[in-house]
Parts: sequence; C-alpha cells; structure tokens
Amino acid sequence: MSAPPKTTPTLAVWKFASCDGCQLTLLDCEDELLALSEAVSIAHFLELSDTVTGGPYDVSLVEGSVTTAADRDRIRAIREQSRFLVTIGACATAGGIQALRNFADIDEFLAVVYASPDYIDTLATSTPISAHVPVDFELRGCPIDRRQLLEVITAYLAGRRPNIPNTSVCTE
Ligand code: SF4
Repeated sequence: MSAPPKTTPTLAVWKFASCDGCQLTLLDCEDELLALSEAVSIAHFLELSDTVTGGPYDVSLVEGSVTTAADRDRIRAIREQSRFLVTIGACATAGGIQALRNFADIDEFLAVVYASPDYIDTLATSTPISAHVPVDFELRGCPIDRRQLLEVITAYLAGRRPNIPNTSVCTE
C-alpha cells in the first residue's frame, strides 16, 4: 500500500488595526519568499494576492490590534482555523500606538475628530491579540525583524519552537 500524499502546509497572513509595516517586512524577504512559496501554500495574504483559500491553516501570522467588535469576532474565527497562531509586531503584541486611546475618553476623541461620530463603530480600547485568543508565539518589534520572521515561519513549518530570545525587540 502506498503512503498517503504529503500535503503542502498552508500559511495565512491577517491584518487588523495596523500600518501594514510588518506585512511589508514579509514582502521585503524577496528571495526567501520565493523559496517559501515553494515550501508552503500561501492561502491568505491580501498584500500579495487577492486569491484566497479557505482554512484550516497550518500557520497564521497576525498583524494589528483589536479595535472593533468585528475584529474580536474575526480573530476568534481565525484562531479556530489555525494550528499555530503567531502575532507579529507591536500592534498585535501590545496594542500599538493606537492603544494611546486606552488612557483617554473615546467619546471625547470621536466628538473632536469626526463630524458625525454616530457613524463610527469602535471599541473604547485597542488591545493585543492575546487579550482575545491564545497565541502560540509573539514576535515583537515595530516593524518586526525580517530574519526573525523567517525563523518563526521556518520553525513552525518544521514543527519546532522558534529560536528567538523572548526579550528580543530589534537586532539592528
Ligand atoms: Fe506598523 Fe509598527 Fe504596527 Fe508593525 S508594529 S503594523 S510596523 S505600527
């Protein structure tokens, strides 16, 4: 009897409230990204392609913080579909610069900034992904370091823990 065909692992990249800089770090990997695309099936990465494949996903990379009720529902659905979930960057791991709102009155902000604040649907806080779902690994930085990102992806695809110090923020 022949062995079952080996399936290609799937990678998904998700965006929440963020500037896209950490996703751009992945795009900036150029040659490595080409090699990576041969080793994995990139199932969801809207910065790269609008072709989307449904889950489940072996590794999900999540950029950005949770700032709306819809975000909260979406990250829960992504968690259910992901074997490993890795948060990338300060927005996803700590709430980002947008978490400055956590120390102020959101209604006051809305009234000052928007002519019709009733149309704005937002939470009072910006929170890290780990405040809502279990996270397998947090890669810190603003933006993240490209070599560390490649190590994280390679490690989870190989079924091992990434070799990155917990305290590491920036290497350059
Ligand atoms: Fe942009 Fe920094 Fe947030 Fe990454 S962590 S998405 S670079 S603001």
